[in-house]
Amino acid sequence: MKLFIPGPTYVSQEVREAQAAEMIGHRSQDFVQLFNGIQSKLRSVFQTENRVYVAAASGTGLWEGAMRNVVGERMLICVCGAFGKRWVDVAASNGVAHDVLEVEWGEANQAAQVEKALNTQSYDVLAVVHNETSTGVENPVADILAKAKAVQPDLITMVDAVSSAAGADIRTDEWGIDILVASSQKCFALPPGLAFAVVSDRALDRASKVPNRGWYFDFLLMEKYLLRDMTPATPAVSLLYALDHELDLILSEGIPERFARHARMAEMTQAWAVDRMALFAQEGYRSKTVTTVTNTRQIDVSALNSYLKTQGMQLVNGYGPLKDRTFRIGHMGEIQPEDVETLLAHIDTFLAR
Ligand SMILES: *Cc1c(COP(=O)(O)O)cnc(C)c1O
Repeated sequence: MKLFIPGPTYVSQEVREAQAAEMIGHRSQDFVQLFNGIQSKLRSVFQTENRVYVAAASGTGLWEGAMRNVVGERMLICVCGAFGKRWVDVAASNGVAHDVLEVEWGEANQAAQVEKALNTQSYDVLAVVHNETSTGVENPVADILAKAKAVQPDLITMVDAVSSAAGADIRTDEWGIDILVASSQKCFALPPGLAFAVVSDRALDRASKVPNRGWYFDFLLMEKYLLRDMTPATPAVSLLYALDHELDLILSEGIPERFARHARMAEMTQAWAVDRMALFAQEGYRSKTVTTVTNTRQIDVSALNSYLKTQGMQLVNGYGPLKDRTFRIGHMGEIQPEDVETLLAHIDTFLAR
């Protein structure tokens, strides 16, 4: 079954089998070696010199943890869809003071609006979603962060790259991302259960001044253990085997090649969608990893999915309030352009029935 849903994505058989390796103790030398190797490979994928925390959680857990680590006073949250909205809920439920900069869903957050907000109020953290999986929008993160840091140089920047890291070209260090969060079950093409946070020295320094960071995701504690190639609590060892194996596949494909493959799949899917129906995301800001199609033909998505299932494929309807207005095609991870071609041909067959 090929999953064209924006997480969890298709996991190759060899990666599924890698999880079956014999268990090791997480304080053993074998573990240290495994975790150390994973670190350097992850730094290549994230295009960073910074540390990468790996937690047994989904991305949301580490994102919530990140907020608790770095917000001392007040944060600004950019919203352009359902995941940005989730980060507002997470801030509210943690008692984190925040303001929201929301644009119409389907549009991208813009640097000029962020700049204006930062000129009127002081913040210690700016959060933005790189790839808004509900609307299929890719935000201009490089531009937003550059302009934001020009106004408030001490800002800590948090970027949700859950559905784009390892699929789209994200220059973590070059763009000045202090905390980048990702999950295993999207472009990494792994089973769910691992979360990643790339964390800068500046973010770590900020954390040292923030009280009540919690325990499980306390960056200072995670750092202390990472220096010994370990985690504070029991790691998901089997998933780390899978990660290690997948990272080898990613590196052997080549990082620029992987990004190019995702861009090609996005082009194919989006050209198809424009021809048959319409795209929900604003032109110029369309995701490389997921396409949100406006269902202008009112096709019955669950009937479409039942048909696709007989062909070994699945896509998914819209997210949250967009449930009935859109459907989504994920083209990420180990999905190949040939798979996309096959999927689109099957949808055409369904449409012609
Ligand atoms: C999937 C997703 C999340 C949630 O990640 P989990 O790993 O399910 O916690 C957050 N943000 C975006 C943009 C996503 O696509």
